[in-house]
Amino acid sequence: MNKQQLYPETSTIADILLVDDEPNNLRLLANMLTEQGYKTRGVINGPMALKAATSLPPDLILLDIMMPEMDGYQVCHLLQQDSRTCEIPVVFVSAKGEGVDKVKAFAVGGVDYITKPLQYEEVFARIEYHLKLYRLQKKLEEQNVRLNEENCQRLLAEKQLQEKNQQLEAEIELRKTTEEALQQSNAELARANAELEEFTAIASHDLKSPLSTISGYAQLLQIRYGSQLNGEGNDYLSSILRICHRMNELIGDLLSYSRLNKQPDSFKSLECEILIRQACENLEREIDSTGAAILYENLPQIFGDRNALVQLFQNLIGNGLKYRSQAVPEIRITASEKGDRLVFAIRDNGIGIDSQYLDKVFLPFKRFHKDNTPGTGMGLAICRKIVESHSGSIWVESKCDRGSTFYFSLPQIEASSLQNDS
Ligand code: ADP
Repeated sequence: MNKQQLYPETSTIADILLVDDEPNNLRLLANMLTEQGYKTRGVINGPMALKAATSLPPDLILLDIMMPEMDGYQVCHLLQQDSRTCEIPVVFVSAKGEGVDKVKAFAVGGVDYITKPLQYEEVFARIEYHLKLYRLQKKLEEQNVRLNEENCQRLLAEKQLQEKNQQLEAEIELRKTTEEALQQSNAELARANAELEEFTAIASHDLKSPLSTISGYAQLLQIRYGSQLNGEGNDYLSSILRICHRMNELIGDLLSYSRLNKQPDSFKSLECEILIRQACENLEREIDSTGAAILYENLPQIFGDRNALVQLFQNLIGNGLKYRSQAVPEIRITASEKGDRLVFAIRDNGIGIDSQYLDKVFLPFKRFHKDNTPGTGMGLAICRKIVESHSGSIWVESKCDRGSTFYFSLPQIEASSLQNDS
């Protein structure tokens, strides 16, 4: 007898374990279920049922209640104790008149019961119902596991985020404190600098007058009594005068250094070539005596203090002449744009500077050539102060006997926004 399949889609893959001590019942039930597309396994007692269920858990168990040795309740109870089988839906099967203890059947973990003689449609309906329930439950559990995992990951991410936030907050706090401390020490430094500059200015100024008195008396001595002194006495006097002259230069440079605090409101747009021409006029004697060539063309306008910038070019060109080699000095001045900056280069063909001194050349009173070249060691320190007061920076590239190139950068200012004073 080939019956029509009642649940063609869902039943085919279901694996059902049939437990009945009556082989005839088993066969009948198995035939009936197989016809409906279920996969069945049959066992004839409780211990066999437990073994079959644990070794390969079925999707559903149809379990006879009345069996010798171990009845259905016991089997169901033991299935419930085992984590491998506790979720398998168990439907009890009892013969009419056997008196099923329904409360006990549910208490030991059964999900349903059917009575013999079996009403097939009812059996299929119940099986399908429990299979569906079982599958839904499984799906729900899987979803729960997934949700839990996602939750855990979210919690972990939140925790990491919180930690990162705390770290960031701590960093911000630290930066704030550091900035405050920096601002404070900057303010203190500025105050100390201002005081030092004021002191230098006053001290240099006050030193000038006794020095000119000494120098004046020494000159008087030389004029009036020079003829009465012997050669040695005259040499002493000359030394006094030479040292006075040098000291006067030093004080003069110190004074100009301490006075270099131009405010940007005194700045104007200036024609660079005019500034260089002025610097060359001031150096006329040195340029003529050495036959030097000062080369420049197409230089841009710059923004700043006229006198300070003339002094800057004058010091750099003057050094190119002072520290010349055997060759006739050639000083080339060029400018190029680097982003929002103008970079000037003053290149000479002089004796160059040893690389070990390059980071010290801009410090006050530092001199690196031990001959009697005149100078105080303040020229480049003054250059640095001028450039920095124009919001720029200054540096040098040089090698012994290969000439030097001094660079300084200044911010580019839009020509239209400037007041012209060339
Ligand atoms: P000064 O020229 O009065 O000694 P500067 O501050 O101008 O002082 O220069 C510091 C030192 O750097 C100089 O004594 C010299 O040793 C070196 N120096 C500066 N410019 C040049 C240059 N163009 N070529 C070689 N050496 C230089």
